[in-house]
Amino acid sequence: MKITVLGAGVVGTAAAAYLAKDGHEVTVLERHDTAARGTSYCNAGLVSPGDATAWASPAALRTFLRGIFNHDLGIRVKLRADPFFYLWSLRFLRECTTTRLRANTLPKLRLALYARDCINALSAEAGISYDQRSKGILYFFRSQESFDQGSVNYRFLGEHGLPIEIVDGRRAAEIEPALAGISDRIAGAVYSPVDQTGDSRQFTEALVAWATEKLGVTFRFGTTIEGLDIDGDRVVAVRTSAGPLTGDAVVLSMGPESGVFGRRYGIDLPVYPVKGYAATIPLDDPSKGPTMGGADEDKLIGYSRLGDRLRISSTAEFTGFDRTHKPSNFASMLRTAHELFPGAFDEKKAEFWAGLRPMMPSSVPVIGRARYRNLYLNTGHGHLGWTTSCGSGKLVADLIAGREPEFDTQGLIYRQ
Ligand SMILES: Cc1cc2nc3c(=O)[nH]c(=O)nc-3n(C[C@H](O)[C@H](O)[C@H](O)COP(=O)(O)OP(=O)(O)OC[C@H]3O[C@@H](n4cnc5c(N)ncnc54)[C@H](O)[C@@H]3O)c2cc1C
Repeated sequence: MKITVLGAGVVGTAAAAYLAKDGHEVTVLERHDTAARGTSYCNAGLVSPGDATAWASPAALRTFLRGIFNHDLGIRVKLRADPFFYLWSLRFLRECTTTRLRANTLPKLRLALYARDCINALSAEAGISYDQRSKGILYFFRSQESFDQGSVNYRFLGEHGLPIEIVDGRRAAEIEPALAGISDRIAGAVYSPVDQTGDSRQFTEALVAWATEKLGVTFRFGTTIEGLDIDGDRVVAVRTSAGPLTGDAVVLSMGPESGVFGRRYGIDLPVYPVKGYAATIPLDDPSKGPTMGGADEDKLIGYSRLGDRLRISSTAEFTGFDRTHKPSNFASMLRTAHELFPGAFDEKKAEFWAGLRPMMPSSVPVIGRARYRNLYLNTGHGHLGWTTSCGSGKLVADLIAGREPEFDTQGLIYRQ
């Protein structure tokens, strides 16, 4: 088939590669001049089934409501005249029960574990390097209270297929020697040895090069997607700034823009942009930097070691499509990074970035056919899109081929 993929983030690019491997003629449309210039440009760098827990939970309900009034929290909610924000919030609040939390987490965990195998197989096949590390990720808690509350979610993941080790501060510092200086401030930690880290921009750019050269995928950069031409129950063309493009099927992977775009065609696609911030800093003394990925659960910060760079990331901010940032947005995460890795870096050398997570109220990505016979959705990956990109790309290719997926997709396949 002739298949058009909308968006060259890590999600669209991975799907394009798997579709081309199936023998389809694939064209990817992207408004930027190169791939991974949206949310996939920069993130915490965690390829983390250990982070599969859905955001909506009874605890998140309280944090979300507090975030409306207190903008110093990791979660900040700026009330705005956007009816869709309120609809999204209502749907999010509906997911904030323990039953929904578990129902949303399980499909994400299964996808993330499957996706880990996919990213490893695909990068080995394509010979892609992306500053990857496979030493696991350490999720640590500073107070006994937060550890008692937070480790419940990890134990749930552990009961459903994620190998984890629950450890104390001393053992945490054995696993991650860079944390030795603060081991007495760690009340407890969860070590997920199958988690990995890596740079999603490097991965996506390298995948574009390989998919172009070896699989014959066409990437049309600098091309804005303007709309879809619909005839009955089919998409007959994608309208672009370079003219219409016809084909047999379309895969929508426009990241945070997917929701607004899809709703123009009557698709129930409540993807909302949730802003986050990340800093990438060269390590002046690599021996003092982390040796693996981690998350400081009380400070709500994720970090990874990308070659000789430190990536730190934080914050969930509801502020529409605003991608701007200012130095004060990074002050708290830099303070924490100095505390965790003293003497490792000079923050004056940091590259700062802000991006938008394509977030579903349930945190479950939207993968499957929607409304029209030849329109597939592969979007809404939220806080876990780098982790799940290759698994969802393979799954979309399986759905289009009419093949049985290779893992348990219960609760995952979108139907409208
Ligand atoms: C601060 C932060 C930290 C994160 N940390 C992690 C992490 O550690 N691990 C993890 O797994 N995930 C993480 N994520 C989430 C992850 O980065 C995203 O889920 C993922 O990058 C989404 O990829 P995507 O391809 O769907 O979207 P994008 O990368 O945004 O790609 C969508 C593409 O569509 C294009 N597009 C949109 N509209 C149009 C149009 N009209 N015409 C043409 N092109 C268009 C865009 O330009 C863009 O290139 C984080 C996100 C943030 C913000």
